[in-house]
Amino acid sequence: MNYENFFKDKVESVKQEGRYRVFAHLERQVGKFPKALLHHDNGTTQEVTIWCSNDYLGMGQNPKVIEAVRETAAKMGAGAGGTRNISGTNILHKRVEESLADLHNKEAALVFSSGYVANEGALSTLAALMPGCIIFSDELNHASMIHGMRSSKQAKRIFRHNDVAHLETLLKEAPADVPKIVAFESVYSMEGDISPLEEIIALAKEYNAFTYLDEVHAVGLYGPRGAGVAAQRGIADQIDLIEGTFGKAYGLMGGYIASSKAVVDAVRCYASGFIFTTSLPPSTLAGILASVEHLKMSDIERQRAFQNAKYMKAQLEKAGLPYMKGESHIVPLLIGDARCCKAVTDQLLERFNIYVQPINYPTVPRGTERMRLTATAAHRKEDIDTLIDALLVLWQENHISQYAVA
Ligand SMILES: *Cc1c(COP(=O)(O)O)cnc(C)c1O
Repeated sequence: MNYENFFKDKVESVKQEGRYRVFAHLERQVGKFPKALLHHDNGTTQEVTIWCSNDYLGMGQNPKVIEAVRETAAKMGAGAGGTRNISGTNILHKRVEESLADLHNKEAALVFSSGYVANEGALSTLAALMPGCIIFSDELNHASMIHGMRSSKQAKRIFRHNDVAHLETLLKEAPADVPKIVAFESVYSMEGDISPLEEIIALAKEYNAFTYLDEVHAVGLYGPRGAGVAAQRGIADQIDLIEGTFGKAYGLMGGYIASSKAVVDAVRCYASGFIFTTSLPPSTLAGILASVEHLKMSDIERQRAFQNAKYMKAQLEKAGLPYMKGESHIVPLLIGDARCCKAVTDQLLERFNIYVQPINYPTVPRGTERMRLTATAAHRKEDIDTLIDALLVLWQENHISQYAVA
């Protein structure tokens, strides 16, 4: 076997489909967000407005967060120095985990290197520990949950996206006496919709299933104190486990679960992705604590983000652009063709200094390629108007309506 040629061919087929991934080399600048410098390969830079960031509230450049990171790095150094069990647990881990348990009104919380690792570790561990467990999973669940379910080697039943009747059919088919986990998200990141939490919880209770809720795109942003959609609807106490990230609205990185003492302790003792890796550095934890605590108290960032999302949707509606009408702050614009999606985003960048990353397979199914727009707390009305004007020009030039399937 010629390994070089083999892998070149693999990449070539991705290129043929028009979904070769090209990264944008950004230089984020404090005080300028959502603007940033884009570095080109020829050495030049371009100032762009970012329209696809998950730093929904601009917390990545919040002065209190930056100061906490800076000060802690100066005091406690750069790295954690070990895994959680072997010298890598900092006093700040304890403070962050207590802060999260308080946020979600749960007995305990556990921090991971990322939201991905949290999902993979928690879901795989909980399912694997229960003999005969069946996991009921929304078909659009994030790759990290799918990875966790696969690693558990337990049976999986996939229900159609947000389809409660289908979930009930599957629950009914399963033996009454086996352990069950219902795994779903609140805000679906690529659709911009929100799941029918109340109905899913009611079903899970009826069939005595454990509820596992990914609130990655909701924590910091929804509900009182940023505790998520379940908290906003007053039903967080009925969810067995909430999983979140510090990488999105909190503006840093890392992931976590919040649940009962017993569940958190089981994951802590058994989850490979938790145990066998160096823990987050003290500086990051200090930034996380500052961000989580700030957003428990402050509503202004949330209000701005939602005002912007509302204004953007209204303008898209007026312009007749095919955005996907979810209830959340995320606004996907359907294009339905990988090449066209890439061409439009390239032109947004070249002609209008607007940076939106095209979303392609395998992040979304083929034929549903889209732009995923996020109006953050830091965007201004003028930014939104400029974006919509540019989109209208490109929509007409590229005859995009022929692809859209929304
Ligand atoms: C981004 C994402 C994750 C992973 O979180 P990270 O902290 O970025 O690893 C998990 N679930 C969903 C739904 C996500 O969109």
